[in-house]
Amino acid sequence: MIIIDGHCDSLLKVNQESSLYDLGGNSHLDIKRALNRVNLQIFAAYIDSSFKPYQSLHRGLALIEVFQQEIEKYSSLVKPVLTKKDLLTIQNKDILHVLLAVEGGEILCGDILLLNTIFRLGVRCIGLTWNQRNEIADGCSESATQGGLTEFGIKVVKEMNKLGMVIDLAHISPAGFWSVLEHTQSPVMVSHANCHQLCPHRRNLDDAQIKALSQNHGVLGITFVKDFLGEGEVGIEDVLKHIDYAVTIGGVDCVGIGSDFDGTDSLPKGLEDVTKLYLIAEGLDKRGYTGEDIEKIMGRNFLRLFTTILPE
Ligand SMILES: [Zn+2]
Repeated sequence: MIIIDGHCDSLLKVNQESSLYDLGGNSHLDIKRALNRVNLQIFAAYIDSSFKPYQSLHRGLALIEVFQQEIEKYSSLVKPVLTKKDLLTIQNKDILHVLLAVEGGEILCGDILLLNTIFRLGVRCIGLTWNQRNEIADGCSESATQGGLTEFGIKVVKEMNKLGMVIDLAHISPAGFWSVLEHTQSPVMVSHANCHQLCPHRRNLDDAQIKALSQNHGVLGITFVKDFLGEGEVGIEDVLKHIDYAVTIGGVDCVGIGSDFDGTDSLPKGLEDVTKLYLIAEGLDKRGYTGEDIEKIMGRNFLRLFTTILPE
């Protein structure tokens, strides 16, 4: 089975004492543990709020450099995915395929030229906003004024479509979400979010959004962040409930996994790190999903999305 995880923040845990190969027991995911378990891992270069606005580019470039240095160091174990062709080896579990995303459109500093620069540096996905407002659109904490994409944001969407970069709408405001769907020529991803109907958090998608994402042939990565799953103690069952619900609303082709490993301190019971990921597939099996549908949710849907979007 091909397993693809649409989002993790493990790159941020790399420091002088640790490598992406082995981040130690306090982390949720590293190359060592993902090997033979995950076929393709998306690593986010997340630009923390403390760097915004003026240090965003610096921070983004520094994290891109950390990623490139780490995958060079472990080049016999990992393979960067830059083109459609790079996905042809994805069945091979002895190699961890990795795709670099930037979480925070602030990295562009409002300059469309820099989109090409980060593309050249190997970035193939951008989370257009985090929770705040930026030059592209409003994040989910900035929803009151109901602003969609800015003129610059429209340019970014069009140029990402042209370059073959994946647009990630996790964290964007509802107005921003709808505005992107209006302007994009390609499917989009929501790399890590859940269903608003089951857990009314501003980061989760309502039914209309899930349906629209499905019509766009996009994929929602159901995430393990406790606050986006439900109240009180949560476990694998709650993740399965959100998968179930998203499938009911949008169909089985629009649902995937976006763990947010190392992006949260509070994971569901039983999903403590990447070694437990297979339990999702087991849970779906117990719930009566067909083998084909389990494969779609665990990775085939994201594979279809990346195969559609990435450049030749
Ligand atoms: Zn995030």
